[in-house]
Amino acid sequence: RLSLNLTMSVMFGKAKPCAECNLVLLGVMGCGKSALTVKFLTKRFISEYDPYLEDIYSSEEVVDHQPVTVRVMDTCDQEGPVNCERYLSWANAFLVVYSINAMESFSGCQLYLQKLSLHNKTFRPQTPIILLGNKLDMDRYRQVSQRDGEALAARFGCLFFEVSACRDFPSVQHVFYEAVRRAKRD
Ligand code: GDP
Ligand code: MG
Repeated sequence: RLSLNLTMSVMFGKAKPCAECNLVLLGVMGCGKSALTVKFLTKRFISEYDPYLEDIYSSEEVVDHQPVTVRVMDTCDQEGPVNCERYLSWANAFLVVYSINAMESFSGCQLYLQKLSLHNKTFRPQTPIILLGNKLDMDRYRQVSQRDGEALAARFGCLFFEVSACRDFPSVQHVFYEAVRRAKRD
């Protein structure tokens, strides 16, 4: 019985890293991090969300037939990437968000990408990053072209997507699941 328990705890210990995934959403205030988080967790779009709220949410998901506990840290940095310790080593993957209709949010996310790439120079395993253009429903007010998004992502070795937190759920879920897949690969 003792050896069985031991075997089980070894198995459990081995299975654990694959069964949990910590995602961190970063980006300037107003780009839609909370809206995306709520959409992923509830399939709903909540248009007014406390802009100063930062929290970690947990959700049991099944990604590629594998159960996984996904934890999402919805950050709120009022001064950009200055006090990053709370998420830098916690994260298994980063989603760096901007809104396609706000150029300053695109500039803001470059500061995050620089910070993260510095972090990844010294941190092993490297933490994957997804660059995410949000508010795709605002296409007619677009200030950041898809090509500029793709080019920035290529420069920092990120995956790139454009979504809308207020449109269909599957494309938002797809982005979060891609983050989980990337994170599990290490
Ligand atoms: P955060 O500061 O990054 O957490 O941004 P919020 O999630 O609080 O969103 C800021 C504002 O943008 C809110 O008024 C949201 O309703 C709005 N918003 C968020 N995502 C979208 C989106 O995909 N499309 C549109 N049109 N508005 C959005
Ligand atoms: Mg927020």
